Amino acid sequence: MHQKDQWKNYVSDLVTPEEICDKFQADKEIFKVHRVYPFRINRYFFSLIKEKNDPLWLQAIPDEKELCKSNGSEDPFLEDNILSPVPNLIHRYKNRVILLVSDKCAVYCRHCMRKRRVGLHEETFFDNFSDILNYLESHDEIDDIILSGGDPLLVSDEKIEFILAGLRKIKKDSILRIHTRTFSTLPQRITENLCKIIKKYEPVYINTHFNHSMEITGETKKASFKACDYGIPLGCQSVFLKGVNDNFKALSDLFTNLLKIKIKPYYLHHPDPIKGTDHLRPDIEKGIKIMKMLRGQISGLAVPYYMIDLPDGGGKVPLLPEYIRGKGADYIEVENFKGKLYRYPL
Ligand SMILES: *Cc1c(COP(=O)(O)O)cnc(C)c1O
Ligand code: SF4
Repeated sequence: MHQKDQWKNYVSDLVTPEEICDKFQADKEIFKVHRVYPFRINRYFFSLIKEKNDPLWLQAIPDEKELCKSNGSEDPFLEDNILSPVPNLIHRYKNRVILLVSDKCAVYCRHCMRKRRVGLHEETFFDNFSDILNYLESHDEIDDIILSGGDPLLVSDEKIEFILAGLRKIKKDSILRIHTRTFSTLPQRITENLCKIIKKYEPVYINTHFNHSMEITGETKKASFKACDYGIPLGCQSVFLKGVNDNFKALSDLFTNLLKIKIKPYYLHHPDPIKGTDHLRPDIEKGIKIMKMLRGQISGLAVPYYMIDLPDGGGKVPLLPEYIRGKGADYIEVENFKGKLYRYPL
């Protein structure tokens, strides 16, 4: 196998349910879940799990609670119908679209918002690229194109290049973005060859996905520094998850440590009301409280926006702590990060 393709070994060499149960004395029953929602974990990510129910276990190992009665729905944002004028393309905001270029991931996250489709399709998943290009060509207002999935970096370098080249040809100065979790789950994927390809079609932004500091390793740092050497800007979209990171210490460590490996925290998503994920959804009030504590205590650069996505395709909205506490004729009263009130003249 050529060096540039060695990452594929990690994709094919998966950890089996038996190995997991043996190592952690877990109940085999939990793997019944994968008849409904796919399960996959590679050796690299598995090696980072320290104990049963730790922040990485909860993200990657099935839980019988996924099959319990759920308040969530499979597709609360209607991505598959009203927002999808062409299959595998989601168009909600005027200027930006999401392309679902792969349905595979290096690890299947239990909290995935596209649980309904990720990991369930065949290799022919993204076979209507020319229809997508036609759609993009006839919509001049689209100038920001997000490659998502699944994980877009689970396809080969050749296919990534084919997609980027096709997009760049018709969208000369648009923003391209790649939304990938591989920096966390398969950092070996970030090869010199891949970075060279991405660099050719710049500006291409990468947004990755980390939810806990335990995901940040020497391998991760090698991957992020390499991408930065090729001038690829890196952001992170984390998900606020019960038992994983729903406390001040976990989030302040995560965001600070991301910044130290040159990844800028972009969004902290409140988990969407997705069927089969109720047990991972924390309290919104708690999220707002932690965000308020973060401001003033860690670098401003490390603080992301805390976002909710409204159902029925309503769009994303940032949830911000309330800082304006009162108003006078010629001033507003503002609370600072220590809870002290100040009058600010108008
Ligand atoms: C989140 C999202 C985007 C990108 O939103 P940004 O706030 O620009 O990152 C685009 N389209 C859809 C459908 C989305 O859900
Ligand atoms: S990497 Fe992203 S798309 Fe894949 S399972 Fe995790 S959240 Fe879903």
